[in-house]
Amino acid sequence: MNRQVPADISGQERPIRVFGRMMKKGLLAHAYLLVGASGAGKDALAFSLTKLLLCEKPHFGEDLPSPCGSCAGCLKFDHQTHPDLVILKPQGAMIKLDQVRDLQRALSFSPLDSQRRVCLILEAQKINLPAANALLKTLEEPPGGNHLILTATSVKTLLPTIVSRCQVIHCEGLSVSALMERVIEERLCSSDSAQFLACFSEGSISKAKDLLEQDVLSVREDLLNFLKSKREKALLMLFVLSKRISNKRESILLAVQVIRTFLRDLMMLKGLRRKDSKEQKEPSVQILFNPDYENELQAISHRFSSQDLAEHCRWLDKMEWLLDRNISREFLAESVLIFWIRKRR
Ligand SMILES: [Zn+2]
Repeated sequence: MNRQVPADISGQERPIRVFGRMMKKGLLAHAYLLVGASGAGKDALAFSLTKLLLCEKPHFGEDLPSPCGSCAGCLKFDHQTHPDLVILKPQGAMIKLDQVRDLQRALSFSPLDSQRRVCLILEAQKINLPAANALLKTLEEPPGGNHLILTATSVKTLLPTIVSRCQVIHCEGLSVSALMERVIEERLCSSDSAQFLACFSEGSISKAKDLLEQDVLSVREDLLNFLKSKREKALLMLFVLSKRISNKRESILLAVQVIRTFLRDLMMLKGLRRKDSKEQKEPSVQILFNPDYENELQAISHRFSSQDLAEHCRWLDKMEWLLDRNISREFLAESVLIFWIRKRR
């Protein structure tokens, strides 16, 4: 199986079942728009539906509809050589007008090999305005035998005229508890860290695996150690840690996201403490991103006011924005971390 095609469709069974029913009845829409947060499994779903469409003998049994896996269509799909599969994705930062024009030319010919052609438009939220306007007509009435499948992070990121021409499918991924079960079942990490990994992976087991490859658990541990250390030691740690997290653009983004989970948990713990003092109840760890670090976070929560924590969230927004503006990554990483030292009481 090629690595470009995400195969894990856990959590997407319902849309696949509905799509299969429509396909069997010959009632498919011209265009589908799959929306969901990054990592919710949109690409895996898009490729699964594509393979189903290109299969010559799909199974529509009691269970999930599935491609046969052995016909010429399935084999060409697996080897990425299917002539009736067109994939459009951003070139650089955007999907541009020329790309849409090329697509329109390709769609004007009949499918070469099978009854249908599938055009996948990935990360459609990155389509620029001229390209989006050009795409409208194709979406409304693609030439016969063509199916379009778009993916985007949210309907709000697209022109309403694009959304209204597509059948929208929401990809929600697995629930946190179902994902936790998978993480523990597949022994991806210790059961202590499973809740953090499941919350952080937004319903996607493949995102959980990617995060582990990026060493997310040790980044989290380093950041927590930095957070709870005394001021002098934190200053010494600052430069080593900022070097580590500024290695790549992705590593700063990962660190920023991890810090956001700490900020959120600190806010929750502060809120719970206030509520508990009135109601005399034990705080529930179920609502934390980092329940395995509850004691450590509880111990440092007095160092920051709620306003400081909110201010830090805004600061992180600014850092993310600056990351795309040609500013030294190491400087940005230091700026992200120094906030903890500057603001602590
Ligand atoms: Zn097949």
